[in-house]
Amino acid sequence: MEKLYLYKWTWAEVRDYLKKDSVIILPFGSTEQHGLHLPLGNDALIAIRLAEDAARATKTIVAPPCWFGWAPHHMAYPGTISLKPETLIQLLYEVLRSLIFHGFKRLIVVNGHRKANLPPLEIACSRIRNETGAYAAIADPFFLADTAAREIMESPPGGIGHAEELETSHMMHIFPELVDIKKAVKNLPKKKKFHVTDPYVIGDRVFTPSTLEGLRKATEPSGVIGDPTLSTAEKGDRLHRALVNNLVEVIKMARKEKVTLKPVAPCF
Ligand SMILES: [Zn+2]
Repeated sequence: MEKLYLYKWTWAEVRDYLKKDSVIILPFGSTEQHGLHLPLGNDALIAIRLAEDAARATKTIVAPPCWFGWAPHHMAYPGTISLKPETLIQLLYEVLRSLIFHGFKRLIVVNGHRKANLPPLEIACSRIRNETGAYAAIADPFFLADTAAREIMESPPGGIGHAEELETSHMMHIFPELVDIKKAVKNLPKKKKFHVTDPYVIGDRVFTPSTLEGLRKATEPSGVIGDPTLSTAEKGDRLHRALVNNLVEVIKMARKEKVTLKPVAPCF
């Protein structure tokens, strides 16, 4: 049996791992609507598969995945579960602190809920890094393989949003049995000056948070923002390989980081 996950190890195996290594990968996702063609677990499943493939290639341990994220706007559709950002900050902070207490010094969070989870995850990692001296990093599929993603996508500017070409292609490659591509519909956002949510568009912009009602109105009846009809498993394969290659590089770089831990108490 392959044992990539911490929850499959004994404490003695973790002790032995820590004698020679100090890296751990933490998959963080979300349980939220992803249109009519993708499952609610989409973001967690992507984080999990990326973590597993990079862990296998680098002989790294993977923490138990977190299936919940910060997704209040997606509450517009049933099945979505959203934590408060304060809860997510605290959850990641306490998990990292526990791991650091045992001697993990290099902690790589893989965020499958692209961009949307970043503010709370960044706050937790920043706090941990400053308080403990541990190396903490967040790998986000929106940004981790930015170069490859721009080459792969055919969507027009503004077309990368939610359950769109890239996310759907990725899932068609890693979990084809969970994608019902016949139900994929195109819903490109209306062009608005400054209000750009597509991370691959370069331009002047402001950030306006999505609201539950606003997202519902802008995405009815599907929940999609973008054009998943352009998706193919081949594009997903290319994207996945680029993401895993870069994640492997991040892990190798983390192993080389000089890290001096400050004394850390568990969370009581
Ligand atoms: Zn997603």
